[in-house]
Amino acid sequence: MGKVELNRDNINKCLCKICPVQTDSKCSKDKLDIINEKLKEEGDIKKIIKPEELPLVYCSNGKATCKDLSERELCKCTQCVVWLDNNLANGEPIEYFCIDGVPK
Ligand code: SF4
Ligand code: SF4
Repeated sequence: MGKVELNRDNINKCLCKICPVQTDSKCSKDKLDIINEKLKEEGDIKKIIKPEELPLVYCSNGKATCKDLSERELCKCTQCVVWLDNNLANGEPIEYFCIDGVPK
């Protein structure tokens, strides 16, 4: 399983921003506000945003640093284009990357 690339395209496609696992998370919301501002800056996204700041693309970044996620809600990863494009159905775990870490 190749590592999912962290780039603007995948950040834009990622469904974590509308996932019920984190929509009620104040920690994630605060991070998202900061990220939305940072995304307005030009240049290499990896130089602008530190992975731990990003409440998105957990399939690339690994587990969330926020501790107020609603783990009982349904993960949206299997509906995500990034998930399909990177063949994450064949990895382990196949979803809930914010909780269980990157697929192997
Ligand atoms: S990894 Fe899955 S469960 Fe976690 S926020 Fe993203 S879509 Fe939701
Ligand atoms: S597969 Fe999940 S964590 Fe990865 S970009 Fe899509 S919604 Fe986000």
